Amino acid sequence: MTSPHIVREIERRRTFAIISHPDAGKTTITEKLLLYGGAIQQAGSVTAREGMRHTTSDWMSIEQQRGISISSSALTFEYEGRHINLLDTPGHQDFSEDTYRTLTAADSALMVLDAARGVQAQTEKLFAVCRNRGIPILTFINKMDRPAVDPFELIEQVESTLGITAIPLTWPIGDGPDFKGVYDLQSKQVLVFERTARGKQRAPVQVAGLRDPELRQLVGPDLAAKLIQDVELIEGAMGEFDQNAFLKGELTPVFFGSAMNNFGVEHFLSRFVELAPPPGPVETNLGERDPEAPFAGFIFKLQANMSKAHRDRTAYMRVMSGHFERGMDVTHTRTGRKLRLSQAHTLFAQDREKVDDAYPGDIVGLVNPGVFQIGDVISLDGKLQLPSFPRFTPETFATISLRDVGKRKAFMKGLTQLTEEGVVQVFYPTDGARDPYLGAVGPLQFEVFQARLLEEYNVEVEMHVTSYELVRWLAGDTASVARFARHVEDDQGRPVMLFRSPYDLDYTQTQHPEIEFLPLPKDL
Ligand code: GDP
Repeated sequence: MTSPHIVREIERRRTFAIISHPDAGKTTITEKLLLYGGAIQQAGSVTAREGMRHTTSDWMSIEQQRGISISSSALTFEYEGRHINLLDTPGHQDFSEDTYRTLTAADSALMVLDAARGVQAQTEKLFAVCRNRGIPILTFINKMDRPAVDPFELIEQVESTLGITAIPLTWPIGDGPDFKGVYDLQSKQVLVFERTARGKQRAPVQVAGLRDPELRQLVGPDLAAKLIQDVELIEGAMGEFDQNAFLKGELTPVFFGSAMNNFGVEHFLSRFVELAPPPGPVETNLGERDPEAPFAGFIFKLQANMSKAHRDRTAYMRVMSGHFERGMDVTHTRTGRKLRLSQAHTLFAQDREKVDDAYPGDIVGLVNPGVFQIGDVISLDGKLQLPSFPRFTPETFATISLRDVGKRKAFMKGLTQLTEEGVVQVFYPTDGARDPYLGAVGPLQFEVFQARLLEEYNVEVEMHVTSYELVRWLAGDTASVARFARHVEDDQGRPVMLFRSPYDLDYTQTQHPEIEFLPLPKDL
């Protein structure tokens, strides 16, 4: 029988990730969410640039140089009785498999848009990943204190470029210097924006109804008239918010605000905890696993050498069902090994805290003595597996060569561990004569790989980006593939072929109809 305690803990969990194009305000929103959640005392302690260094890890100098966070972990805070896990996804333009995988651990996503820029390239890519998983997506249109695109146009853009119904739950009153606040279309109240000194405090909020004569005083007669007109248009022409369509990922509720000025974030948070779903069932080889079932968790991310103080490997596990307790004995499905989970921690940047208990939706860092791979399941039952875990097709390729051949052993170790983490994928020429190729989704992954090899394994390498753009795994009958194979294979020995252009691929395909050219290995 499921204990009521577990049911309650599941019900109050909300695990989500923020997706956005760089600079839209993800870091700022994260900081304000933590502020409202009471996790930090004053805004400014998490934010990028000057404040970044105190709280994000300094284990990698590349992070410091760029002031960006490359590692992802989860930030946890409480709000109105809810336990919120915010998965931290890397914020740079280039993204790695890591970002995608992190999204597999989220139950919902917050899409942050810059009001002046609307939907941008990276938003689209990350949105597509959430869409594939069918998770609910909420939208926050940020930077309303700056000149913005017309809100009707922004809504239209979300709908047309992303193919999702967008329903505003708040509506902005003015923008830029004239930004006066937002109208809550559900409670029919006006939230008035007040500029506070550098947004360091909670913004005061006053409310009044749309027909309230006070509205004209609060926002001025012109904006009051425009608001009444806009709301008529919205109520007449736009559909109603539908919770079911939202949960299915077909509809996104839209909020407007200004994170830097603390405006609209708390209102969003109070709506978020109501709308966003708690952890639900997970698809496994044994059917759907309910969160109330006995303990099980999956590994979605690995990271080596998190900090100089802790030179070990961490495996991030998301609890998918039951009650996790530190020190519990579990079975690792892939190897059948019994493991005792005594070294468990949460990790926020450099600070580790021991975790004694965790529930579905929570993220636990486990010390990884090399047993865990991404997608692995640990459980009390021992037979549970995930059907598949997303891998992504690299789009950019580099050759890599070792400066000091005497370091070959350390190099191979680094290559194995970092490819296992998904920092890059590696492809080996089968004749063994030439250097391996690395494949990545974005070029920053190469830099990260190079920097980490040097810092963590003391190995210097030279890398040259090649003109290859595509990789395809070869499938078909064994004899044809063997005859065809072009001397490159992945780290599991599967034959692959690299192409310089889609044209190249098409041509080869027409010449060799007997071979299938797959964007991912067939057995994944
Ligand atoms: P990220 O790259 O998505 O994490 O974006 P950041 O949170 O680092 O924000 C990028 C820049 O936009 C920073 O200079 C922020 O101070 C600024 N910013 C964030 N939110 C707002 C806002 O609501 N209004 C204005 N004017 N600037 C903002």
